[in-house]
Amino acid sequence: MPEPTPVLPEVLAQIRTLPPSDRPLVICDVDEVILHLIAHLEDYLHQRDLKFLKHEYRFTGNIARREDDVPLQADEVRQHLIWFFDEVSHEQDMVPGASAALNDLAQGWDIVLLTNLPGGHNKPRRERLLAGMGIPYPVLTNSGPKGGAVAVLAANRPGPVVFIDDSPTNHKSVNASLPSAAQIQFIADPRFRAAVEPEAHIDLLTGDWQETAVFIDNLLRSRA
Ligand SMILES: [Mg+2]
Repeated sequence: MPEPTPVLPEVLAQIRTLPPSDRPLVICDVDEVILHLIAHLEDYLHQRDLKFLKHEYRFTGNIARREDDVPLQADEVRQHLIWFFDEVSHEQDMVPGASAALNDLAQGWDIVLLTNLPGGHNKPRRERLLAGMGIPYPVLTNSGPKGGAVAVLAANRPGPVVFIDDSPTNHKSVNASLPSAAQIQFIADPRFRAAVEPEAHIDLLTGDWQETAVFIDNLLRSRA
């Protein structure tokens, strides 16, 4: 998809429901950042005699039948992701430290969760799960690259904007739409994190919430 990508109308409508604010802003992804994804997805795949071919950051072309390594077609992968979220989105495990770090950060920053959730009907379950973990921040559901949504969220805010996401595609998109954002590539799964070669626009590659919170805290300190 050519970048920068515009915000989708349905995402813009969700952004318009947020109260106006001039505080600094953390825009945080959910899957593989706040909630484990890869570990749950791997269980789901194994139960169906499927597997990842590589610890590589894509689903299409990388999910295959166990016995012959033949990758599933893109539409099969899409369907499995919807079934997967129907099955697990009410019970995904929290990445350790996420709730404590976000609650600390919330004293100085607005926090908005921007999630690509295949099957938008699972949004209320996701909101309930997160709220039950002590993560009560607004959840915006997007699809596709996130740069357009991030640029709109950042508009009219004088302070710094931090973007946290596991996906290299989303980071590319945000770099194209809002190059001033501080970009944290957070990948909970150590195997997938080790396989990532961070691009020049990534300010921190991590799978650790404490390190993330310290990094973000320092952004405000260095401006004060
Ligand atoms: Mg994610």
